[in-house]
Amino acid sequence: MKFIVLNWRSYFMEFDYAKIRKQFKELEKKIKEYDRIVVYRHVKPDFDAFGSQMGLVYWIKANFPKKEVHFVGEGSEKWCPSLYPTPEKLEESWFAQGPFLAIITDCANTERVSDNTMGRSTFKIKIDHHPEVDRYGDLNIVYPDIIAASEIVALFELSRSNHYTIPKESAEALFSGIVGDSGRFLYDPTDAATFRIVGDLVDLGIDMNDVYNKMYKKTKKDFENLKFVLNNTKFTEHGVGYYILTDADLNNLGITPINGKMFVNEFRDLDGLFITASITENKEDNTFRVSIRSKFVAIDKIATQFRGGGHANASGATLKSLDEVPALIAALDKAVIDYKASLTVKENN
Ligand code: AMP
Repeated sequence: MKFIVLNWRSYFMEFDYAKIRKQFKELEKKIKEYDRIVVYRHVKPDFDAFGSQMGLVYWIKANFPKKEVHFVGEGSEKWCPSLYPTPEKLEESWFAQGPFLAIITDCANTERVSDNTMGRSTFKIKIDHHPEVDRYGDLNIVYPDIIAASEIVALFELSRSNHYTIPKESAEALFSGIVGDSGRFLYDPTDAATFRIVGDLVDLGIDMNDVYNKMYKKTKKDFENLKFVLNNTKFTEHGVGYYILTDADLNNLGITPINGKMFVNEFRDLDGLFITASITENKEDNTFRVSIRSKFVAIDKIATQFRGGGHANASGATLKSLDEVPALIAALDKAVIDYKASLTVKENN
């Protein structure tokens, strides 16, 4: 079925429609202007990083077949290889051949852009939904109140669907990104616009079951690993739950550091729990990678204190060693204590 957006404005009632319209026009203009385009995303990619990147790549390729479009970054072999292709590695000689446009999706700051060649582009366009850390783009399309970068890219494509096609691969990639970052439509700020946009993507004929299957298929070993993690999860009296996976644990479980965070949402619904965290050793740089998720309590500032950042309810951080764990957990505990105190104040007023 050919999809036509009759009134894409209705997606954005509460946003500055004129602003995003202007930004999308500029994005389209730049894509038309450049014959050579590279699409980047953040390091340690997740569904939204891949989904927004590939969603845009497939769209540009389908609508501008004569352009040279590339996608780079760390390999997808570690993250859902059945859903996303292995990223390319561009040779030095490619960069010497002339100017190119860089589009970076789902990445708040320059240091986290996967592949360090972005700086060599002639024009940079940032498309992101993290709180603004670093306005590194020449054009910055940043909406922190949107659940996924893939939702912004989907909106761009849907807003142009009277003139351009949205190939099924693009719709599937964008769907996977929105599903991934929203935790299957569970987390804030999933809203009515998210459902409308996803509905329109589904109308394009995507195979939802196939995508879900690829995203969430578990092996028996995954369940064994989950048992191990749950048996080793610690809970504080205030409502923080966390687990630590050392390099030896990762080897025993047969997983890579990038996948250490895959259990962080498994116990989030436990009554009385406000924050969950995974702490995973990364031998490559001798650090511990932290993923933090929360309900009601904002944790992004704590993540920033520990060399990270992210969203109010989903952030990442880095510890130099396990010696920093008590300080991290104390900070998270304090955030919960402050949150509970704020509720008491509200009740008393
Ligand atoms: P993760 O725990 O890696 O899934 O990250 C949760 C969210 O925080 C994602 O949106 C990441 O892009 C973001 N994030 C993770 N680490 C950092 C960091 N060091 N700086 C800024 N944002 C981050």
